[in-house]
Amino acid sequence: MSNEPAEAQLVCSAKGCRAAAVHVLAWNNPKLHTPERRKTWLACDEHREYLSRFLGLRGFLKEVVPLDEWRAREEG
Ligand SMILES: [Zn+2]
Repeated sequence: MSNEPAEAQLVCSAKGCRAAAVHVLAWNNPKLHTPERRKTWLACDEHREYLSRFLGLRGFLKEVVPLDEWRAREEG
């Protein structure tokens, strides 16, 4: 019914992927970041596992959160 808001569409972080993001991967590289710092990648359903594994293998992955929940947290 209503038009999409002006808010930019959040797109998957996987290379070459233009799909809408539905998950947030929160990660931290202990060599670069302080422990409480969180970098985030966005992932579509298809790439959630691929990106999670990429970060997990390096020991960077902290959590995977649905995008809606992540946004709710930031607002709260
Ligand atoms: Zn993707």
